[in-house]
Amino acid sequence: CGIVGYIGPKQAQGILVEGLRKLEYRGYDSAGLAVYNGETLGVCKAEGRLSELERRLSRQSLPGQLGIGHTRWATHGKPSDENAHPHMDMAQRFAVVHNGIIENYLELKEELLAKGCSFRSETDTEVVAHLLADQWDGDLVSTVRKAVRRMRGAYALAIISEFEPDKLVAVRLASPLIVGVGDGENFIASDIPAILEHTRDFYVLEDGEMAVITRDDVRLMKTDGEPVERETLRVDWDI
Ligand code: GLU
Repeated sequence: CGIVGYIGPKQAQGILVEGLRKLEYRGYDSAGLAVYNGETLGVCKAEGRLSELERRLSRQSLPGQLGIGHTRWATHGKPSDENAHPHMDMAQRFAVVHNGIIENYLELKEELLAKGCSFRSETDTEVVAHLLADQWDGDLVSTVRKAVRRMRGAYALAIISEFEPDKLVAVRLASPLIVGVGDGENFIASDIPAILEHTRDFYVLEDGEMAVITRDDVRLMKTDGEPVERETLRVDWDI
């Protein structure tokens, strides 16, 4: 039910957990993080409160400076460790967090099962990870655009890949998503308060838009590739 993402010079784990804590008011049944550690994507997730996730992270932390986090409000598949986000493809090259519903996930799942994919969860979201692997063409932005073209429903997505670990990709269709612009670091979140302690400059994504985010740059475009020009919004209130 909430999404946070970070790319920059700092350790992502703490920023992601703190961001998720500020989104707690939305309600959730499980939580998880994926962080790129310089070689692979590490994932930690847990059914239950954020404190359960933190307990696991205290035993096995996720070092790295690029990551995504999620609090889940289950729509497809019961609350469980397996169904908690992030979800990954079989080779664990892509990690995805998602708010909303992929309405045609059954159709996509059947297609991916027929191609030999095996699924670890009961969620609609997991199809997105496998679809990205299936559509991979050597370019993350183009691959995300191709995958999104296949998906119907309502979603906010955040995606990272070990193939292009200098990027965080966010997509919005009918679920809120904002980009926080920092100095040599950037953020995404479902909601401004999640990252207000780090920046006051935001882009608010509109339906059918995506953001391609590096440490130093935020590029907005429509999911069909058309560039979007927008001013940042400056927030001068406090929480
Ligand atoms: N439909 C997804 C699931 O059940 C995402 C739910 C959410 O928005 O948290 O896992």
